[in-house]
Amino acid sequence: MAKKQIKNPAGRTSGPRRRGAITKPMMKTAKAVGSLLAPKSARKGKAAKVKPPKARAKADRKVLHATGKHKLPKPWSPAEVDEAFRRFQAAKPEPKGELHHVNPFTLLVAVVLSAQATDAGVNKATPALFKLADTPEKMVVLGEERVRELVKTIGLFRTKAKNVIALSDKLIAEHSGQVPNDRDALQALPGVGRKTANVVLNMAFGQPTMAVDTHVFRIGNRTGLAPGKDPLAVELKLLAVISPKYMMHAHHWLILHGRYVCLARRPLCEKCVIADICKWPGKTTLMAPNA
Ligand code: SF4
Repeated sequence: MAKKQIKNPAGRTSGPRRRGAITKPMMKTAKAVGSLLAPKSARKGKAAKVKPPKARAKADRKVLHATGKHKLPKPWSPAEVDEAFRRFQAAKPEPKGELHHVNPFTLLVAVVLSAQATDAGVNKATPALFKLADTPEKMVVLGEERVRELVKTIGLFRTKAKNVIALSDKLIAEHSGQVPNDRDALQALPGVGRKTANVVLNMAFGQPTMAVDTHVFRIGNRTGLAPGKDPLAVELKLLAVISPKYMMHAHHWLILHGRYVCLARRPLCEKCVIADICKWPGKTTLMAPNA
């Protein structure tokens, strides 16, 4: 004879479940999680539903525009920060920037062109540009009009073309045509701000800097890892909390995480390797991944 199922007051057929407890179906889903940076497979998983758009937007407003009324997420403990970066490292030991370049000068130009544009968009335009001009001298010879023509598919191309020629002129006049390994000298170049200088110092000169772009800014605030009102505040907080052993690659891990997992409008919390550590009130937590 079949066993009679006993329903609890909530209508469940098993015993009462603690709020937030991890159930068997959740564990099954968690096991199906592949790598950190697998957006396509991530979308296929049978995950629990993430909170609806309105609830997610509200959660983001709370953490990004925290006021006396809206408390910031709980800060991360040093052990949690270390564990998060251990998992990022396990998932992608050698993360790379996605902007194509062939030397420090072309890296600098690519980063200047990438302001308020996507890396993919910049990568479509730069092969033709760098084929003709991969040094400041060649760039100046190419001239502003030709540069403008070559980068016209990138947003703000007129200003950017002007800056590329002006910074090339300055590199020739003041740095013998070399990209300087120095923050102040880099930021003195036309079109070069703190974020660009940080990327160049990190990728071209191996310095453990933290470039805060839109993804890093969002993650720092949303997750509670490094809350800050502006990119500089987030950068300084990240530099303070991340262990030096992870700093060299930290900004790439965060950028890739923001680009492919912790998306602006619909973060893939159900596939996120740091879901159990993240403090975002809008997240859906399923698991402690075995990265
Ligand atoms: S759980 Fe992961 S994807 Fe979701 S908000 Fe937190 S860091 Fe982003």
